[in-house]
Formats: sequence, C-alpha cells, structure tokens
Amino acid sequence: MIVIMQPGATPEEVDSVKSEICRFGFRPFENPGVERKVIALLGEVDFNKADLVDTFNAMPGVSRAELISNPWKLASRDFHPKDTIVEVGSAKFGGGFAAIAAGPCSVESLSQMRESALCVKAAGARLLRGGAFKPRTSPYSFQGMGEDGLKIMAEVREETGLPIVTEVMSEEEVELVDSYADVLQIGARNVQNYALLKQVGQTRTPVLLKRGFGTKIKDFVMSAEYIMAGGNTQVILCERGITTFEDSCRNTTDINAVPVLKKLTHLPVVLDPSHATGKADYVPAIAKAGLAAGCDGLIIEMHPDPAHAASDGAQSLNPKAFAQLMEDLRRIAAAVDKTL
Ligand code: PEP
Ligand code: MN
Repeated sequence: MIVIMQPGATPEEVDSVKSEICRFGFRPFENPGVERKVIALLGEVDFNKADLVDTFNAMPGVSRAELISNPWKLASRDFHPKDTIVEVGSAKFGGGFAAIAAGPCSVESLSQMRESALCVKAAGARLLRGGAFKPRTSPYSFQGMGEDGLKIMAEVREETGLPIVTEVMSEEEVELVDSYADVLQIGARNVQNYALLKQVGQTRTPVLLKRGFGTKIKDFVMSAEYIMAGGNTQVILCERGITTFEDSCRNTTDINAVPVLKKLTHLPVVLDPSHATGKADYVPAIAKAGLAAGCDGLIIEMHPDPAHAASDGAQSLNPKAFAQLMEDLRRIAAAVDKTL
C-alpha cells in the first residue's frame, strides 16, 4: 500500500501518517521524489486492506491511499511514476539517458585493462567493466585476480576517469569490493542470493543487478526490491539472456523483458548482448536491438585480444568492432530520442 500526501501537507501531517503506519506494524518508506510525497508501507498486510485504506484516506494531509497489487512496492511505477535516473560519473541511466559500460570479462593485467579502458573511452563508453571475482561454471577455470584485480581497475580509473563496474559474489566480500567499485554488479547466478542482496542494499553504491538465466521477471523485480528495502534505491536492471530450448547461442535474449520491466518499474533497464548471445558476431545486432527497444544502456564485453582472453573471448568484441558498434549505437540512440 502507498499513501500519497497532498502537495501542501505539513511535516506534522506527514509525521502522523508515519506514526500510524508504524502503529499498524509496518515500516514507512518515503519516496525521495520532490513533486509529491509518497509513503510506502513495507510489511505483510494480514488484516482487512480496505479498512486500512479508509483509515489513511481519513487522515489530514492525505490525498489518497492506494493498494499496490504487485508484491514489489519500492520498485513499482505506482510508488515512483517517473523514471529513476542512476548517475555514475558522467553516465546517466534512465529518464531519456543511456550509457554504455564496456571492457573485458575478467581483469587480467594492468596493461590489458589500460588498453581496454583507452579503447572504450575513445569510442564513447562512459564506464569500464571488468571482473576481479569471477563466477565460473568450472572450479578449474580462471577464478579472477581478486583484490589485485580491483587495484588494477582503481589505477586505470585514476588514469582515465572512467568509473568501474565490477562483480561482487558473496556477502563477505561486499565491503572490500564496495571500497573500489563505482557500480556493484550482482551476477546472474546470484540474482536470488538474498543475503548478498541485503548486504548490497546496505551500501549506497549503485547496483547493476543481472537477471538469472532461469529467473522470471517478477522474481527478478523482487530481487531489486530486496536491495531497495535496505535503502539503496540506485538499482539498474540488466537483461542478459535466458535459457530456452534454443542452443544456437549461449542464451536467448529476452527482448520482451525490456518493455515489460520499463512498465513494471521505474528503474533503468540495460541489456548485456555479450552474455545473451555468447558470440561476438551477434553482439552488434542485439546491442542495437536493445537500444531500439528502449534500453537505458548496455554492458558490453570487449578485449584488446579476444583470442587470448582469460574468459569469454568468443563473445568479446575487438577494439575495431567495438568502435564501429558505438558509431552505430549513436545513430540508433538519435532515432529513439535517447541521449547517449
Ligand atoms: C559477467 O558479466 O562477466 C558475467 C559473469 O555475467 P552473468 O552473471 O550475466 O553470467
Ligand atoms: Mn563474462
């Protein structure tokens, strides 16, 4: 349920509504939006909802109280009708802005990250991606450089000014990764790791939350709600392909997820065409489709030498292909009125 206050509601009226919310056993969560004060009631409603609506509707300063039919509240467009814009450095995601994050799957060395950063920056990307803690299907595959990889990313950020997006895989590592990252990535495999989601919800660092390969959109949004319920409202949703019967590509891009998520939530939605396809040849087409479908950005893997990448070389664009794609994306962005 949400309580929408009248435009001229006094602070005392807002406080009484919040006290009443607490008295009923809920937690009040205020929408920071300035245009109209909306207070969400967080918690399970196990008594007559209609009575509750009547109680709040009768309070001074209240414009109206409404039930939200979806189980997510803070992520809902009902609670926050305007697009949330997540800003990271010069990048803006949402509200008519789109930004590109790009870089290798894994951090391998300072020279590899430096070269990648210079390439993606020159081509127009606004964030540098790179994994230092890697979720690999096989325990025998390269597991990432750990904190040394984060140090490399921080050094390259210092040199280039590009903010960094990097994955955090466990609750225990949130503090460490957060001390380096500008955007905390939650990978597909961890989309329903609720302990991890709660922990990143305690930070105030933007989160790029990836959909799992078997996650329903509704469950995906509930995962965003976990982060937001902790007070971190800077969540970017990322579609990265799902598992279907089709095996010509690594995954199947669920392009439908883009408009569906935009309708259900106010959060920015980005697409990862690299993991969605698994093949560099297909990445440009799907990246362009994502932007045309209304994405607020893309996260793309590129590598200075894809053939020798420690992970995901087959889906990584080389510098030339990445620069070409960025040019094409600018044309698509212009056609759909997005500022890239
Ligand atoms: C990645 O971004 O390198 C990654 C592992 O992605 P996902 O979690 O989507 O598989
Ligand atoms: Mn990867």
